[in-house]
Amino acid sequence: MICVQILLYYAACFFFFFEYVIINQILMNKFRWINTGLHAILYILFQLSEKFARIQWVLSEALLMFQFKILSKSEKSGARVGEVCTPHGVIKTPAFIFCATKASIKGVTIDHVKTSGSQIILSNTYHLLLQPGSQLVKAAGGLHKFVGWDGPIFTDSGGFQIFSLGYGGVSAEIKGARQISGKKTLLKSTEEGAEFRSYIDGKTVILTPELSIKTQVELGADIIVSFDECTPYHVNKLYTANSMEKSKRWGLRSLIAFKAHGVKDQALLAVVQGGVYEDLRKESAQFANENDFHGFAIGGSLGRTTSQMRDVVQMTSEIIDKSRYVHLLGIGGIRDIFHGVKCGIDTFDCVSPTRIARHGSAIVKVIESITGEKQQLNLNNTVFKNDFTSISASCDCYTCKNFSRAYIHHLLKAKESVAGTLISIHNIRTMNRLMDDIRSGITTNSLEDVYKDWCGH
Ligand SMILES: [Zn+2]
Repeated sequence: MICVQILLYYAACFFFFFEYVIINQILMNKFRWINTGLHAILYILFQLSEKFARIQWVLSEALLMFQFKILSKSEKSGARVGEVCTPHGVIKTPAFIFCATKASIKGVTIDHVKTSGSQIILSNTYHLLLQPGSQLVKAAGGLHKFVGWDGPIFTDSGGFQIFSLGYGGVSAEIKGARQISGKKTLLKSTEEGAEFRSYIDGKTVILTPELSIKTQVELGADIIVSFDECTPYHVNKLYTANSMEKSKRWGLRSLIAFKAHGVKDQALLAVVQGGVYEDLRKESAQFANENDFHGFAIGGSLGRTTSQMRDVVQMTSEIIDKSRYVHLLGIGGIRDIFHGVKCGIDTFDCVSPTRIARHGSAIVKVIESITGEKQQLNLNNTVFKNDFTSISASCDCYTCKNFSRAYIHHLLKAKESVAGTLISIHNIRTMNRLMDDIRSGITTNSLEDVYKDWCGH
């Protein structure tokens, strides 16, 4: 294809030379009819050359193997159904991304994750950088081979973990994250990067945008994220503004490093920061819009309350370039997902489905819960001691097909770890069923009915 383009280009140049030197200069424009004909040939050759250049560009884009397509849009909100094409398959969006924090989804095998209809998993750069190290993962053939997962993988930049672990107990304020016990690990955040103490061996590590990108390139995930400074809620506006400015500079360095690696099979997302402040979010979004990131991840402090979080998500989603793919970092509540979807969010991630499972809680539709309010059943509750029905009558998962609430209640009481596994399998399948219903609801303009089915009124 390149040869054809070059041949056409040189042919056009030859005709141009012939026209200019021979016809115009030597023959002094005596043969104008030849001149007009040559003009036409020149025009066609340059057009063809450009067309082939376009085809070649399209092919090179295809080689990047990352494309985001919007297939349908809701008539009532910003919700959209789309496809994220990656080298390891297509993600139908909106989708939920399951957290394989340390290259494993806690309590289940990767086969359970696959057979539950999952499309994509997420691993944390911060944890894998410290153990086992990205070079070992690269030597193993990359994260996909290492984990045994041939579908799409997402890695975050490490920023959230450094800063949430770094702030110690304040981590809960960043986005409803649980309290992380232990010492603060962040030593300092400079222009160069974030210096922290490894929780594995106590060594000092400086994570820079360049190191974050290098690590993510070595891990080989399909979708990777720019390094950012993640600010908690308790800091003031000036701190948030300075932090957002630094994240812009780190974002640009991430993009430059990404391009320098010459990566063709990974997509890089910008992180939109700015806390709860609209003007800062706008500035951060403007930076992300103006640079050629493949998409966006909405991050940072989303506020102290659910309603503030939803306002920030809505406001941010309105100012980013929505022709690109949008991920919302760390949000996984069912009602919050519906809200995000209506704002045009394409993917969500959260540790909650498997975390609450390990504590005995199964995700269900509101109508299936005891209280009629929350989308959860706490199977530790003695009310399930003699309940021989499955967790959910509407669920087709391995757990619901084979085991009763009474059996899982017994396993929890007996402290058998398989209880967490069985509930995790159910919760993963349930999140995938939820997203299936949401996609279908958008396509048929019946998202409100899907909301009522899952969340009540
Ligand atoms: Zn189930």
